[in-house]
Parts: sequence; structure tokens; C-alpha cells
Amino acid sequence: MNLHQETPGARVLVIEDEADIRHFVRLALESDGHEVTEAATLERGLIEAGVRRPDLVVLDLGLPDGDGVDFIRTFRSWSSSPVLVLSARSAEHDKVRALDSGADDYLIKPFGSAELLARTRAHLRRRHRHAGGDEALLSFGNIAIDRARRRVSRDGELVHLTPIEYALLLKLTSHPDRVITHRQLLQELWGPVHTESVHYVRVHMGNLRKKIEADSSRPRWLLTETGVGYRFSPEGASRQGA
Ligand code: CA
Repeated sequence: MNLHQETPGARVLVIEDEADIRHFVRLALESDGHEVTEAATLERGLIEAGVRRPDLVVLDLGLPDGDGVDFIRTFRSWSSSPVLVLSARSAEHDKVRALDSGADDYLIKPFGSAELLARTRAHLRRRHRHAGGDEALLSFGNIAIDRARRRVSRDGELVHLTPIEYALLLKLTSHPDRVITHRQLLQELWGPVHTESVHYVRVHMGNLRKKIEADSSRPRWLLTETGVGYRFSPEGASRQGA
């Protein structure tokens, strides 16, 4: 499969104040055939976003003139293009805040070009798929979801899910490759009162995995983002330790 042909020449905006990282990201993305615009400040980033209408944004959270999360809030008011956040390992809280505000994914510094390009391709693919509209039938591996009938089957056999498990599966699979935070899941499935009750999600996710995954302790489709939330991998990740 030629991934370069699937996502031809996307417009990518890179907002990062560190020139070395900006340059590194630019070279990597250009080597994948993308057209890159750089911005070193939040203000410049907002201007370039408005002018260039990027297909994807790579965003550093710590900018000299403001918080990257403010960029996400403004950008999300008019664009659904994926936002990939760059975060320092020490800034765990910022990363979650960025995802809660509408970022799609994150990379922890330092990161390699292979990781950057893999994530970029996944999000650009998702964008292409979404352009085709939502489909009632979704399948991955031996699992099929019939969204119109609210039915899930595994190897053709009906799988009995509780309403919460079904809602959890639907939320994750409706946003392939995107990191969904604990807070987002709690808010959507249980309501705003329970946004701190992360153990609710863990328990139901554990039960859901037993019904969906071949080995629920080493999930392939419903992946854990430690300390953050979950991600549905439509390509099926190489087995992940839980
Ligand atoms: Ca910075």
C-alpha cells in the first residue's frame, strides 16, 4: 500500500517556537510530500491557520506569547482538521488539557521522524475517510459493528454488550486513531457530574475488551494511552501491554 498516494500533498501548519524542532518537523513532513508552513508564535499561528486553511496542524503547547490550548479552542471554532500536539514529558497535565480542548493526538518530545510521520498519515487518512461520510457498517479484524441496528458481532456471532459498553465502543470507533480522554468519555457516557470517576471507564473498558479483543490484557484495537485515555486503532496495533 502506498501511503504517499493516499494523502497527497497535505497542507500542514507547524507552530513551534524552537527553531530546531520546527526545522526537523518541516523536513520530515516535506519528505512525505506535504506542503509545510511554519509559525513561531501563537499569534502568527492563528494568522497562518486562517490564511492557509491547513489539513493538519502540529502544535507546540508552550509558546512565547501564549498557551497552545488557546490556539486549539480558536481553531476548533471553525476547523475540524486534526491537531497533533507536541508536549514535554514533564507537562502531562497540559497534554490532557489540550486533548480535552479538541486536539486529536500528541507526541512526547523528543520524538523521531518515523513516529511523527506515522501519526500524521493516520490522521490524514482519517480525514480522507470522513470526507466519504459516516457509514452504518464498520468492521475491523473479526469484529463488525452495525450502527443502524446497534449490533456488534465477532466472527459472525452476535456479541452482547451493555448499553455503556456499546456507547464506549461507538465513541472510540467513531474517532479512529484519535486519543479520547477519560474526561471526554465520562462526560459523554455518564454526564458532567462524573468527570473525575476514571475507574468507571476502566471497569467498563475491561469488560468491553474481554468481548472484543482476542487477548484483553494485550489489546490490539482498543488501546490504552496511559494516564490519558484510549485510542481505537483501525489498523490493529501490534499487541500492547495493558
Ligand atoms: Ca516551546
